[in-house]
Formats: sequence, C-alpha cells, structure tokens
Amino acid sequence: MRVPFMDLSRVESEIHDLLTAAIDGVVRKGGFILGPEVESFEREFASYCGTQYGIGVSSGTDALFLALRAVGVGEGDEVVTAANTFIATFNAISCCGATPVPVDVDPDYYCIDPDRLAKAVTSRTRAIMPVHLYGQAADMDGVMRLAKEVGLPVIEDAAQAHGATFEGRKCGSMGFAGCFSFYPAKNLGAFGDGGMVVTNEEGISEKIILARNYGQREKNRHEQIGYNMRLDEIQATVLRIKLERLDADNAARRLTAERYDERLESIPQVIPPACRTGGSAHVYHLYVIRCARRDSLRDYLSRKDIDSGTHYPTPPHLQPAYKGLGYQKGDFPVSERLAGEILSLPMFPGLRREEVDYVCDSIEEFYAAG
Ligand SMILES: *Cc1c(COP(=O)(O)O)cnc(C)c1O
Repeated sequence: MRVPFMDLSRVESEIHDLLTAAIDGVVRKGGFILGPEVESFEREFASYCGTQYGIGVSSGTDALFLALRAVGVGEGDEVVTAANTFIATFNAISCCGATPVPVDVDPDYYCIDPDRLAKAVTSRTRAIMPVHLYGQAADMDGVMRLAKEVGLPVIEDAAQAHGATFEGRKCGSMGFAGCFSFYPAKNLGAFGDGGMVVTNEEGISEKIILARNYGQREKNRHEQIGYNMRLDEIQATVLRIKLERLDADNAARRLTAERYDERLESIPQVIPPACRTGGSAHVYHLYVIRCARRDSLRDYLSRKDIDSGTHYPTPPHLQPAYKGLGYQKGDFPVSERLAGEILSLPMFPGLRREEVDYVCDSIEEFYAAG
C-alpha cells in the first residue's frame, strides 16, 4: 500500500465539475484581478471567521506583512513571535524592516508560551504575533491578557488554522487582525497562492485595501505608496466552493486524528499531539507526533511507501537567513528539541482508515524490531 502525505485530488475529484464550471465562468466573464468573486469570498470568509472585514491578498505571507504594516510596524521595531513556526512568519516581520523576536513554545501544544512572552517585550516591540500551529490555537487567553497589559496589538498567524477555535472563538478573530494562507495544501487551499486578513477594525481594513492595490481606492488616484498584493478571481471562485466544504473536511481530519490517537497511544516511543479540550477545536492541518529515533522511523516508513514530513526540521532562529540575529543552539530549547523529534504523518480529508492503520502498524513494527 502506498500512503501519500497528502492527496488533494481525492476530495477535489468529488467537486471537480463545480470547480471547473466556476473557473470557466470567470474566464468567460474576463475579469481576473479583484472583482465580484473576491468581494463575495471576502464577505463569506470574514463571516465564517466571525469578523466584520476580510481583505483578500496574494498569499499568507503578504497577509502577515500587510497586517503588520497596517498597525504601524516598520524599520527598527520588534515583533514578538513563536520560535517554533514556519519561516514565513519571520519573513513577514523582516520585510517590514522589523526584527522578529522569538519566544519559546509550550511543551504541550507547541505554541507561543505566554509565560515567556512578557520577558521578550521591550520598548521597541510594536506587535505580538502568535502562531496557531498545526491547526491548533495558541493560548489566546494568556496572549491577549499580556497584550492588554502592555498595550500592544496582536496579529494572529492563522495560516494553519482555518476553522480552528479557542474557547469558542475562531482563530483569526481574537486579535487586532488574523492572517490566513490559501496555499493549496492548507486546510482551505486555492489553485495557486492566496491569502486573507480578517479584522473587526475598519481602519486596518481600509489601510490594507489601499496597500494591496497600488495605494489606490479609485482608479488612477494613488493616495499612498502601495504594493501589488491582490487576490484574483479564479482563486476566489475556487475558494468560495471549497469554503462550503471546510467544516466537513476539518471533521474528516479530526476523525483521522482520533484513529491515529487510538492506535498510537499504546506505543511508548510515540507522543501523539495533545489536543485542547473544552470549546477549542483542533483542525489538524498537520498530525504531528514526537517520537524516538525520528529519522530512522522516517526512513522505515518511506521504505514501506508511507510519506511523512517534518514541520520544521530547523527553527527560523537557526536558519542561515537569520544568522544576523545572533541566536545560538540552546536559546530556545523546547523548539529546538521539538525540531529533532517531530514527525508529521499523512493527514488530509479523504485519507482512508486502512491507510491510517497501515501507518500505525508500520510504526509499531519499527519499534518492535528495536
Ligand atoms: C503557510 C504559512 C504561512 C505563509 O503562507 P503563504 O501563503 O505560503 O505565504 C505563514 N505562516 C504559517 C504558520 C504558515 O504555515
């Protein structure tokens, strides 16, 4: 049996006709950049998140960048964020001319540790950027409490958390602004790049609407220097169709996670992901275990035709691009330890129970063989 890490075509084949008809509709109409599909999708996704405004942009990275710029982050500023994240979180901060200041994550949920946050805030800090990693919310009670105390805006990196909640509230809706990616492999994915900022702040929304489109509100009047960071009609029409299935897709991911949990619980060398209880919903963008002899296990699975991943093998502060920040191994021990132990198992809606069982059987075999 071959088990792919992710196979989008399985679920998309069910809605293939809907998707191609919608794309055909856009092609026939002939308007491709911004337009009615984007506007509808902005309304629909903002409403899904429980926010007033949604601004479609060109990627998740650009959503983060534009949201940071909109709250005034610029040259010489600092933005506090999680040490365990995808490089794009750091890149968006750097592209504003600001410095990412990592904070280690908590050892249970792998998200920014609010207890360590306060120490990272300086007089230069202009924003706090928690990351809802792997599809599960960061501790937003702790983050929002600290943010309020120090009077800083929170920009949520919700690029892996479409539909996830923290105590009943949707990820992306709790801070000043929430940023999403519609990269094809995300829980809500386009047929290319795309992103969105959601917010309840009209001022933030207005700034991003201008900034994403050459600083113009009306054609040929450029109120400020802007960017070309727009969402296009083909992506929006695809995303509108997929948004209708997002909750069902997330439920399918949760079912898969339950089966993994059940099967992996009895393997002492494996720590399955901890899931917040109460009113918080995990959407399992990734199913990430911690395990002994990670690299050997990964090779073993690969020989069994099972794809897996590591998210992420090197934390941003140890990447060559961030050598200039001057961090060393040992500075963020929880994140660094995770980097050596984590393994992402196949996870996508449409993954079959037999496949999950085959993955778990193989993990069992690996450890049984010693
Ligand atoms: C995917 C991702 C991004 C960037 O989104 P793009 O659309 O790829 O630019 C940012 N942060 C996190 C945590 C992500 O997973």
